This record gives sequence, structure tokens and C-alpha cells, in this order.
Amino acid sequence: MEFKNITHERSLYVTLGVIIVLVVTIIMSIHTAYVYMDTKNNIFQGMKQSSRHIIVSLQKNVMDLMKSYSINEYDKLVLNEMEGRDNFAIIVEDYNMGKILGEKAFLSGKIRDAEGNIIDYDSKNSEQNKQLEACYYSDKYDITTDSGDKLGTIAIYISNISMNAQLNKIIIGSIINLVLLSLLFLLSLFIIIHFFILKPLSDIISCIKHSDHDGIPVALIPNHGSKEIFLLSNTMNNMIISIRDSRVALKAQKNALHYQANHDALTGLANRILFNDRLEQSIIKAKNNSTKVALFFIDLDHFKKINDSLGHEIGDKILKVVTQRLNETICKEATLARLGGDEFSIIVEDLRQGQDASLLANKLIELLSQPLTIEDNLLYISSSIGISIYPDDGVSAQNLIKYADAAMYKAKDEGRNNFQYYSAEMTELAFERVVMDTSLREALKNGDFVVYYQPQVNGNNNKLVGMEALVRWQHPIMGLVAPSKFIPLAEETGMIIPLDQYVMRCAMTQIAKWYKEGFKPGVVALNLAMKQLHQKDFISILETMLKETECKAEWIELEVTESQIMTNPEEAIKILKQINDMGIKLAVDDFGTGYSSLSYLKRLPIDKLKIDQSFIRDLPEDEEDASITKAVIALSKSLNLRVIAEGVETKEQKEFLIENGCNNIQGYFYGKPMPANEMEKVLSKGFNS
Ligand code: C2E
Ligand code: MG
Ligand code: MG
Repeated sequence: MEFKNITHERSLYVTLGVIIVLVVTIIMSIHTAYVYMDTKNNIFQGMKQSSRHIIVSLQKNVMDLMKSYSINEYDKLVLNEMEGRDNFAIIVEDYNMGKILGEKAFLSGKIRDAEGNIIDYDSKNSEQNKQLEACYYSDKYDITTDSGDKLGTIAIYISNISMNAQLNKIIIGSIINLVLLSLLFLLSLFIIIHFFILKPLSDIISCIKHSDHDGIPVALIPNHGSKEIFLLSNTMNNMIISIRDSRVALKAQKNALHYQANHDALTGLANRILFNDRLEQSIIKAKNNSTKVALFFIDLDHFKKINDSLGHEIGDKILKVVTQRLNETICKEATLARLGGDEFSIIVEDLRQGQDASLLANKLIELLSQPLTIEDNLLYISSSIGISIYPDDGVSAQNLIKYADAAMYKAKDEGRNNFQYYSAEMTELAFERVVMDTSLREALKNGDFVVYYQPQVNGNNNKLVGMEALVRWQHPIMGLVAPSKFIPLAEETGMIIPLDQYVMRCAMTQIAKWYKEGFKPGVVALNLAMKQLHQKDFISILETMLKETECKAEWIELEVTESQIMTNPEEAIKILKQINDMGIKLAVDDFGTGYSSLSYLKRLPIDKLKIDQSFIRDLPEDEEDASITKAVIALSKSLNLRVIAEGVETKEQKEFLIENGCNNIQGYFYGKPMPANEMEKVLSKGFNS
């Protein structure tokens, strides 16, 4: 990461340099001014003193020489005093000589010319007089005799040339000092700033410049320099370390999240997201290597029932065992995924031909049908497997998934516990299922269902004892659709709940109407899926429905199939007991097909057993069916239950049943299921006539 705006890199040096030069200049100027004034004063005092010395030595001698009019002599004396000193001029006023010359005084003396040479003073030389006037210092002394007569004056002139030279020396010296001092200061300041501030700062900057993609320095910040920079570096390092630490934690979290997002929490297997990704990759690989990929869809048979009956905890344990078994069977390269619920999938790569997949499929079927013991429950689970092959069946992941799914449904339709390869017709079947599901929902919304009623008759006297309500779907195109075509799908999708409630309400309303109108329809049996009974509010729904339709509890009977009861008998006992307490009778439908345990049967609060029509069909010839039927009748007697046979079509069947103690008959022999208006006609005519 690069830092911008570092153009003022040197600004600190410049600013500090200017400040230092200014400060040093001000201090030096004040100092120089002071020295200047002091020196000037000293020079001035010195001038005063030296002029006094000159005067003291001259006064006496000149006086004597004046008295004797020896002008030349004192002229020499003046010259002597001038030489070796820096006086500008010494002028003597001689009154005695002046008197002789007829003037006030005779003026003579010595003065310096422009080169500094001592020349004679000429009082008439205006230039010289001007120079005298411009002199910086002059002093005039009287020359008096001992008796006090004034003989003349001696004036001493000092020009500022020499003083200026001295003062200039001071100023130049000060400037040189100023420059040297400033340089010294600047140098030391530069060294201090450089080593204590700028160098550490530039080290920090160059360290920060070497940062990763998030702008975090790769190395720790060097901590040297001034105390503040040291603290700054340490603080930054603490920040970097804590960012690094949180990054490690974040990475771990990210990994965990990534794992969670791609794996199933229960089994740890790849989930649908990862599975989709792997499948895409496998297809690309197979395309490049000209190999085949087999996609397995595995669905555990009746797992929902196990889950509902034994509880989710056991269901989860089963899934774990299944996962373990699958893992042990597949090769390392294969991808095993759980796509949800009891659906697993395996991607097998590098196949030479699609049929190779059957080996694994057989192994899986065999392995998964091995019994498993979970919490002392010995469970038998089988599986249905659908297989689609790339590129034989499809080339896109989406289609392969769709086809494996369709093949899996085919395996279910084929009686489960088997595997099926995908074939083109399956797409149509799968399509039909989807269409069916959608139109079922639509039909429920539109109320396209009608309830048919099939008589239940006492075979001894041929009197109507009741009837069974059986639903039919009045499809706009397909016409009247039998329940076997849509009930299994409705059970699978959960649509059975609203559907059964719809049928119940229709039937209850009809029964109440018949009773109100004076007909005697007997007890009307309603078919209910166990799923319906598991609904939390089922009892209250039932109560409300009875109230709303004004149907009495004793007018109806609920039928639940034996196999549905036996998937979770304990739970069924609880619910059926509540229903029984409401005064509603209960019948076990399709009895003989669901492997009832006698101990449960004893505890079930039921009133009636319905012998399944599969045992009736071949009566009385089929000995096995005959003995089963007899056994069921005997069982119902010993359990004090009523018994009814369904699917009775012939006189022989009816007679066999009556002979063996089953008086209640339901079947085409007495009448097929019919719509309410037809049944009403039968009721109004009287059943026997
Ligand atoms: P189920 O409750 O065992 O009903 C008896 C079935 O046997 C009925 O088939 C009936 O028409 C048929 N049947 C009666 N007598 C004879 C006969 O003499 N010979 C033959 N071959 N068949 C006979 P349906 O109406 O097709 O119903 C099939 C199954 O659908 C029912 O079996 C029941 O389990 C289910 N079902 C029907 N209506 C409903 C409903 O409203 N709710 C639920 N949950 N299931 C229903
Ligand atoms: Mg039934
Ligand atoms: Mg039945």
C-alpha cells in the first residue's frame, strides 16, 4: 500500500531552520547592538581621555612656546602628538601671534587628508573647515599663563573614521558569529531532529509502506527515536499485534463459517451447496477426460414414519449410522453429500460405462438394509436409489440431479429397497407428479373434491349399519380421480391435512343434514391420515367442526390404517384415547397388513377392526386368506372388538364371512361408493328395497 501526499517531506527542516535563523539573528542583533553601543561609548570615552592627555602634555609646552612666539616649535609638538595616534586634527589659536598679524588669533595646526597623511591646517581652506565641523568629537582647551592670561586655545578633533572602522569590525564579527552560530545550531538541530524524529518517522513510514492488502504493515514498527515516537511505535505495534490476533481469530471463524456453509451440521457431510459445486467440477473433469460420472440419489424408505414415531433424536442417530455405512462403502474419491432430511447423494467419477454404477448400487442396497440397533430398538431400514449418468442421461448438473431424483422416485414406486437407472419416461412421471401437486393445491382452493359414500351392511339382515366416506377428485380434464392416485402424494406433501379436514367437514354436514331430515345413515366412517391426528390442535378442530356442522360424536367413526398406527403405537394410543374420550368410535383400517403387535392392540382404545380387502379378494378358495380372515375375526372377538370386512364383492365371500362370525360387510356386493344425492335416494327408498 502506497502513501500519497508526502511532498512536504523536508518542510520540518525548512521551518525549523527558518525559526532558528530568526531566533539566532534576533539574539545576535540585540547582542551586537549592545556591543556596538558599548564599544562606541568606550571609544568615545577613550577619545575623550586621550585628547585630555594630549592637551595636558601640549598645554604647558605650547604655552611657553606661545610666549616666545615659537610657532614652528609648537607646530612640531602638534605634529608629534598627531603621529602615532588617530586624531583627525589639532588646531591651535594663538592670540599673541594674532595681535601681531592684526587678527583676533593666528590659527595653525595639523589635519589629515583623505589618505590619512598629516598636513598643515589652512584656516582659509573651507573644505578643511567643513571636515572639522563634521568631526565626531572635538574639544577645545584654553592655554593660560600661570597668572591667568589667556594666550590661546588648543582644539582637538577626532573623526569617526577610526571609530567606524572599529564598529564595522564589531558588526562584521557579529555577522560572522551569527552565521557560524546559526550553522552550528542548524547542524545540531538537524542531527537531533534527524536522529530522534525524522529518521524514526521515516522508518515508521517505510515500514507502514510494506503493508499487506488490508493495509496492515507486514513487519512490526521499529521503535527508536524520541520518547513520543517510541510510544507511538509501541502503540502502533500493539495495534498491529491485536489486528493480527483478531485476524487469526477471524480466519478461524471464517473457516468455521465456510465449513458450516458447506457441510451438514448433523453428519458433517457435504451439503447441497458443496455438492452442487463438486458435481459441476466432476462434469468438467469427465468432459476433459472423456469419462462418465454417476450421480446417486439415495432416499431412506419410510424414514419420515420412523422420525415421527421414534422421535427426531433416534432419527438423527439413524442418519449418522447411515452416513457411516455409506462412507465405509464408497471409494475415497467419491463425494458423499446429505441433501436434506433422509436424502443422500453420491458422485462417482471416472466410470468407463454407466452400468459400472450398479455394483456400488447393489452394495449400498445390501448394506443399508442391514438391521441397526439404536437405543435398544432393532430397526430395519431400506433405501431407494436413483442413478443418472453423465453424459448418457444429461450434460448439465441441474438435469443430472433432476434425473437421479426421478429415478429415485421410480425406485420407490417399484416397491422401494431397490435402485433404478434414469430413463426418459421418468421425466414424464416426475413431471406428472409436479403437475399433480400443483393442481391438487389448486383443487383444494376451488373445492374440486366430492365425498362418496359406500354402504356398510349387516349381512345377516341386510340392513344398513353405516357408511364410509371416500373422497374423489373431480378433475376438470381427467374427470373423477380415485384417491389412490392422489392420496399418497397428498400424504407426502402434507396436503392431506387440509384435504382430510375438507372431507370431514363435508361428511359431517351431510350426516347432520340426513339425521335432521329423518334418515338413518348409521355411523359414517371417515378416513384420516395419522399425520392429521398428530396436529397439535386436532382435537379442538374436531370439536369445533362437530359444533359448527351440528354433527353428533356418536354419528361418526374415524378410520386410521393399521400401518400408520403401528409406526408409533405409543403416540397413537395417546391421541386415539383423546378422540375416544370425545365419544367418537375408532376403527383400524386395512387390518392384517400392518404387523400389529398384540400387546399394542390390547391397549389401543379402538372399537372395530376392518379386515383388509386383500384377504377377502380370494375367499373362500384361498386357504391362507381364509385362515387369516378367521384369525382376525377370532382376535376381534377375544379383544371384544367389532369386525367388518371390506372389498366384499361376491355372495360366497359374504357367506364365508357370516359363517365365521363377521356380520358387517362393505363392498361392491352391497354397493359401490356413491355421491351424496344417490345415497340419499337409497336412504329414502330404504336400503333393502
Ligand atoms: P379404504 O379406506 O380401505 O377404503 C376402501 C377402498 O376399497 C375404497 O377405495 C373403496 O372404493 C374400495 N372398495 C370398497 N369395496 C370394494 C370392492 O368390493 N371391491 C374393490 N375392488 N374395491 C372396493 P377408494 O375409494 O379408491 O379409496 C382408497 C383408499 O383411499 C381408502 O382405502 C382410504 O385409505 C383412502 N381414502 C379414501 N378417501 C380418503 C380420505 O378422505 N382421506 C384419507 N386420508 N384417505 C382416504
Ligand atoms: Mg377406510
Ligand atoms: Mg381399507
